[in-house]
Parts: sequence; structure tokens; C-alpha cells
Amino acid sequence: MTGFRPGVPAPDEVTAPWWEATGQHRLVLQTCPRCSAVQHPPRALCTHCGSDEPGWAESEGRGAVDSFTVVHRAPRPDLDVPYVIARVRLDEGAILLTRLQGRAPDDWRLDDPVRVAWVDLDDGRALPVFVPDAPSPHDTEKGS
Ligand SMILES: [Zn+2]
Repeated sequence: MTGFRPGVPAPDEVTAPWWEATGQHRLVLQTCPRCSAVQHPPRALCTHCGSDEPGWAESEGRGAVDSFTVVHRAPRPDLDVPYVIARVRLDEGAILLTRLQGRAPDDWRLDDPVRVAWVDLDDGRALPVFVPDAPSPHDTEKGS
């Protein structure tokens, strides 16, 4: 398997539809047709009602920073530091473990509005990352 980026899991039976959508830069969320619960990451069962046929719905790709960590020491040598790992709370209610980009790592704040952007993988899939959705007040504080 050539060109497979280390650290990105291969799709399996449950996550295949999710990965397929990333290739088209669509962020989808498992959404239960029975109880309307939204969950991520994808699972075989709805964690709310136990339905074994959770469906899919497209996310608007907007949310807010729920928590984040600036990584200064990479776990692997092929990663550039520093980078920002974050939990993003999507408007649909699901939490996504992702990366923040488009702003200096130390300039992020909790609850910053973000929107999805895509990093293409060389196997046709893409990874969702999040970028600032609107200029925030602390962007202007520095008066660059
Ligand atoms: Zn359900």
C-alpha cells in the first residue's frame, strides 16, 4: 500500500461512508433515523437508542472550539510543530477531534467560531481540519 499516510486509519465497514464523503469534501455525521441522535466518530450502533442502522446527514461544517492543546513536541518526526489539536463542537452537537489551522497556535481561544477545511490525502480521502470562521476580537489586538 503506497502513499498511505501514517497515522490515518484505514476505513472499515462502519467508517467507510464517512471517509468516502471526505473525498468529496463533505463532512457527514451519523444521525439516527429513529431517535435523531447525532454521534461521532461513526459506530455500528446508535449510542442513544441502540438502533443498528444509524444513517448519515451532512454537517454544515461550522462549530466552536471546545478545547485545544498546542503540541510542541511531535510524536513522529514527519510532523511539523507546533500544531493545534482540538475538540470542535459542531453546530449539530457532535464533537470532532481535529486540528486547528489558519492562525498562530497561541492565538486560539475557547469558543472561537470555526469552519471546516480539507487536507487532501494521496489516497483520495481528505482530513477535516478547522480554520477561523470569522475574525475574532483578539486578532486585532496585536495590530500587526
Ligand atoms: Zn438512535
